[in-house]
Amino acid sequence: MTPSNRDFIYTAQPSRVVFARGSFQRLAHEVEQVGARRALVLCTPQQVDQAEAASRLLGPLSAGVFPGAEMHVPIESARRAREYAREVGADCAVAVGGGSTIGLGKAIALESSMPIIAVPTTYAGSEMTPIYGITDAGEKKTGRDQKVLPRTVIYDPELSIGLPVRMSVVSGINAIAHAAEGLYARDGNPVMSLMAEEGIRAMTAGLREIARNPSDFSARSDCLYGAWLCGSVLGHVGMALHHKLCHTLGGSFNLPHAETHTIVLAHALAYNSAAAPEAMGRIARALGTSDASDGIFNLASDLGAPLALRDIGMAESDLARACDIALSNPYWNPRPLERAALMDLLSDAWTGKRPSAPVIAA
Ligand code: NAD
Repeated sequence: MTPSNRDFIYTAQPSRVVFARGSFQRLAHEVEQVGARRALVLCTPQQVDQAEAASRLLGPLSAGVFPGAEMHVPIESARRAREYAREVGADCAVAVGGGSTIGLGKAIALESSMPIIAVPTTYAGSEMTPIYGITDAGEKKTGRDQKVLPRTVIYDPELSIGLPVRMSVVSGINAIAHAAEGLYARDGNPVMSLMAEEGIRAMTAGLREIARNPSDFSARSDCLYGAWLCGSVLGHVGMALHHKLCHTLGGSFNLPHAETHTIVLAHALAYNSAAAPEAMGRIARALGTSDASDGIFNLASDLGAPLALRDIGMAESDLARACDIALSNPYWNPRPLERAALMDLLSDAWTGKRPSAPVIAA
């Protein structure tokens, strides 16, 4: 059989998605649907009010609130949460929050196999993936396991209405990064490409509107819809250079997750532009521009997002080490990784320079 450029393998990730303004009110029903009787509500210390509201909605189905979620899921907080879940006899985790809180739910599920109900309040997309990450002795280890894929996801725009504009913008561009890399993924497929393009389109429109009016429910709804689509892409296909660079910068240099994605994306797309022309065309179309990298840079700069790694805590003297780490165990990428070009990419991202189209040797 001769392979055509349409050949693909698509394995759907089973999850139930409930998407509506006010759908948070269905929480108890959704817990019953997964057959659970004692749901432990997880949150960060900043989101206790929303977690307590969840606990009240659950009534007798609530096993209490654990407000110990932290960025990058340190193993100590995972152990505390697992122990607490055992103590209170939890048979289900309800994660109310962003990627850090959903990540804590995944750490519990990885050990106990209990179902997770995710109620995302950012646009990072972890709720749609079987990917977990736990940080032990300063090193973040990630893996894939179907046990950690949330069984049910409740998307309610009322819960993200209070997400500050700056966090909304960086979180939204973090989501766009999943879709953008999904469009040139080696194991991509036509279904994910449709979702990726629509996800970028919805997120871009929603973010531009949120910057004008953060309380606009329809814009919040567009962003959550985009988050669902972009998160699904992350859950189904492999990521490339952009995600490798961001994992390196976050994991080894402790840079903030969503901001790092926001700064690096335009540069990673410029690096890959000539090697993935069809994907770049689709990204640009979804952004409403003629060039993918330029479109991302303009979106971030129009909406007041950070543009330079030096402004979020990266030392110039660490760029060469970051480049070495990213090259040491690379992800597949449409354009081969070249050290000199990657150093240029990192220097441009460090200063916040608008990326220019790369010159590729013939
Ligand atoms: P986060 O979960 O760390 O949240 C950042 C802060 O914003 C927290 O203090 C949180 O309580 C607060 N917050 C969240 N929603 C809010 C709201 N609506 N209103 C006010 N404050 C709110 O941030 P994130 O960007 O969602 O997640 C980042 C983490 O998720 C990283 O560790 C990243 O590696 C991980 N992640 C994992 C996956 C995956 O598939 N496993 C995907 C994306 C991100």
